[in-house]
Amino acid sequence: MFDAILIEKTETGQSARLARLSPDQLPQGDVAVDVGWSTLNYKDALAITGASPVVRSFPMVPGIDLAGRVAASDHPDFRPGDRVVLNGWGVGERHWGGLAGQARLNGDWLIPLPETLSTRAAMAIGTAGYTAMLCVLALERHGITPASGEVVVTGAAGGVGSIATALLARRGYQVAAVTGRPAEADYLRHLGAATIVDRAELSAPGKPLARERWAGAVDVAGGTVLANVLAAMRYRGVVAACGLAAGMDLPTTVAPFILRGVTLAGIDSVMCPKPERMAAWSHLAQELDLALLEGMTTEIALGDVIATAPAFLKGQIRGRIVVPLDPA
Ligand code: NAP
Repeated sequence: MFDAILIEKTETGQSARLARLSPDQLPQGDVAVDVGWSTLNYKDALAITGASPVVRSFPMVPGIDLAGRVAASDHPDFRPGDRVVLNGWGVGERHWGGLAGQARLNGDWLIPLPETLSTRAAMAIGTAGYTAMLCVLALERHGITPASGEVVVTGAAGGVGSIATALLARRGYQVAAVTGRPAEADYLRHLGAATIVDRAELSAPGKPLARERWAGAVDVAGGTVLANVLAAMRYRGVVAACGLAAGMDLPTTVAPFILRGVTLAGIDSVMCPKPERMAAWSHLAQELDLALLEGMTTEIALGDVIATAPAFLKGQIRGRIVVPLDPA
């Protein structure tokens, strides 16, 4: 038996509770994993609160991320004892996820954990950090370098934003960190931000084109914030768009694209092909300062997960949250 968060359908919607489950309740899969650590991401908060229809089948164990050891495997790539990490692939949405002591999964979804990372550090990174790295790699694939100019990160004090800020600064970029929480300015400077931008500057509808400010952008916000970021990109700037913290809409015009040659690069971590995932994790293992990562990480018990989830929807979470399952 093991502990898990379980989301069940109710007459009025859904409800989440801490449950005790047995291994024979787990879904089909060719690899069984003893989960060591999991984490909470924005999407997990949407799933647990039901604020958005993230959960596609009920009952569901949420948790889009997990790290642990293989307990049993019929997959040629994995043996019992192997350390693995999983992000996305619909886990925690369609297939039971990581907020549980055990998981049974499709081995094709698993990545061997890089040797330098503990399972706890892997979850401090989680989908947020892996997505931040996908964004950085997308900017560079489209030609952005530290010499191109300042790169702006929105939602900088959140999970994706904190790790994107640290990764970009480590690569030598000048980082402008956008935050709605001025009290987090020192935290963001500690991660490597050179400039702090008040989110209010980007939250009201603006002109189709604004003063050219940034060569690159990592945007977790969407909505009017992304529209204003696009309008303020320098000639041939590149925006990696991965989130919707400010909204699903995009009230923009074609002006940034056809007059300034701006590129809008979409980032999806869920179905991202395995070679790109492996590359992102390899870069994370080599580049991310583990002391900085620890400084942006808060640990909560599995029993506190349900009560913590609503804080994501209010933009109150700083950095990353990890959840111990069976850290032994
Ligand atoms: P998070 O830790 O909650 O961070 C989101 C941050 O956005 C908040 O901390 C806040 O930062 C900022 N924010 C909140 N409300 C805002 C608003 N109305 N306007 C502008 N900024 C706002 O969440 P996360 O885990 O980093 O995820 C961030 C976003 O990326 C989410 O939308 C998530 O769904 C998305 N995401 C997408 C992928 C993908 O594969 N595409 C992967 C991971 C995450 P400040 O207080 O500093 O402003």
